Amino acid sequence: MKIGIVGAGLGGLLAGAILSKNYDITIYEKLPIVGGRFTNLPYKGYQLTTGALHMVPHGADGYLAQLIKKAGCSVNIINSAVEGYFKIKGKDRTYKELFGIVGFKDKLKALKLMADLKMGKFDDNASFGELLKDIPYAYEVGNSFTGWALSLTADDTPISEVKEIAKHYKKFGGPGMIVGGCSSIINELVKVIEKNNGKIITNYNVKNITIENNKGYIDSNEFDIVISNLSPTITEKISNVDIINNGNNNGKKPIPSKGIKIAIGSKEKLINHNTIVFTPECERINGFNCPSNVDKNLAKEGRNLIMVHGIQITNNVKKEIDIMLNDIENIYSEKNINYEIIHIQSYRDDMPVNHASNGTDLNPIVNDRLYLVGDGVKGKGGIEVEGVALSVMKVMDSIND
Ligand code: FAD
Repeated sequence: MKIGIVGAGLGGLLAGAILSKNYDITIYEKLPIVGGRFTNLPYKGYQLTTGALHMVPHGADGYLAQLIKKAGCSVNIINSAVEGYFKIKGKDRTYKELFGIVGFKDKLKALKLMADLKMGKFDDNASFGELLKDIPYAYEVGNSFTGWALSLTADDTPISEVKEIAKHYKKFGGPGMIVGGCSSIINELVKVIEKNNGKIITNYNVKNITIENNKGYIDSNEFDIVISNLSPTITEKISNVDIINNGNNNGKKPIPSKGIKIAIGSKEKLINHNTIVFTPECERINGFNCPSNVDKNLAKEGRNLIMVHGIQITNNVKKEIDIMLNDIENIYSEKNINYEIIHIQSYRDDMPVNHASNGTDLNPIVNDRLYLVGDGVKGKGGIEVEGVALSVMKVMDSIND
C-alpha cells in the first residue's frame, strides 16, 4: 500500500516512521528542514527550538515515548523528579507545599474541590478558572499551569480536559527533558524512515489534496491513503473534502492558541533542577525551564539556557513581549543574576502554539482515504506532543484495522 504524508512535523514523521515498516511511504515537506515546531536550530552557540521547550509532558513513559520506542528510535528522556515548582512569595514550592500557604478554611475548600473534581461533580463544560476563583492563589496557580501546558488561560480551559489531564499525570507522571533537545527525536525518526526506504522530500509545498475514485492524490501523485500533518483548517482549504463540517466533527471549529517564547542565556544558574518553574505571580509569563541542566550542549560553553513561555492575551504583540520582558527582569533581579535575551519568538496565525486548543480538537479520521495527525487532532487530555502522539496512535489503529 502507498501512503503519502503532507508535512514532516513531529506528527508526520512519527506516522511515517511507524508506517514505513510495512508500507511504501512518501513525506512532502515545504521547508528545507524537517521537524516543524519540534526541532533545534543552532543560534549564537545555543540550541534554540522552532517551537517546543525541549520537554515532553509525560517524560519517558507517556504516549510520545511509547510511540518513539515502537518506531525503533533510541532517545534519552530524563524524567523530572518533581512535576514542577510554583514560584510564590519568592520561594519555589511543590504542588503539595502550596497547601501550607493558605489558611485552614481555604485548605478545606481546596480539598473539597479536589474531591468533587475526582467524583466528577462538575459540569464538563464549565471552565477550570470558574472552579478555582474562590480560593486564594488557586486561580493564579491553575492559570500558570494551563498557560504553560496548553497556552490557554484557566478560564478558557474546559473542566473535561483538566479531568483527563489529571488521569494522564496519574498514569505516566510529570515531564521529562530530552538529551540533545527536540531534534534528537526528529533525527531518530528520520533515520528509521530512511532505513525502511521511506522517502522524505523537502522544499515541496503541497498545493492540493484530492480524494476521488478510492484514491488519494497529493498534487498529481497517487496514493492509497493520504495523511495530513497540517491543521484541519488548512487541510480543508487545500483539499476537496469537508473536514470541519463532516459527520465526525459536526461543525466543531478548532480554535488556535497563541503564545510567546523567550530564550535567555546566563553565566549563573537561575535554577538547578530539570523541571518547570511555574510563575503564578508574574503578569504574563507562565513559567520557565533550564534545558541545559540536562544537556549542557544545548547552551553556549559556560552559559545556561533558560526558556520562558507565556500566553499571548491581547493582539498587541509588542506590548505582550514588553510585559514578559518586565516579568523576566523581576525574576532575575530578585536573584541578582545578569542575563542576556537571546531570542524572542511569537506563535500565532498559521504558526500558533496549538492549531486546536485543548477542548477544540477535531477527529483525526476524516474518511478511509484521508487522515489527520498533529496538534489539531490531539484527543482529550493530550498535552502538546503527547496529544500529537495520541492522534498518530488513533490513525495507526484505523489504518491497520
Ligand atoms: P508542525 O510541527 O507544525 O508540522 C507541520 C509540518 O507541515 C511543518 O514542518 C510544516 O512546514 C509542514 N507544512 C505546512 N504546510 C505544508 C504544505 N503545504 N506542504 C508541505 N508541508 C507543509 N510541546 C511539548 O510537548 N513540549 C513543549 O515544551 C512544548 N513547548 C512549546 C512551545 C511553543 C512556543 C510552541 C509553539 C509549541 C510548543 N509545544 C510543546 C508544542 C509542540 O511543539 C507541537 O505540539 C508540535 O511540534 C506540533 O507538531 P505537528 O506535527 O502537529 O505540527
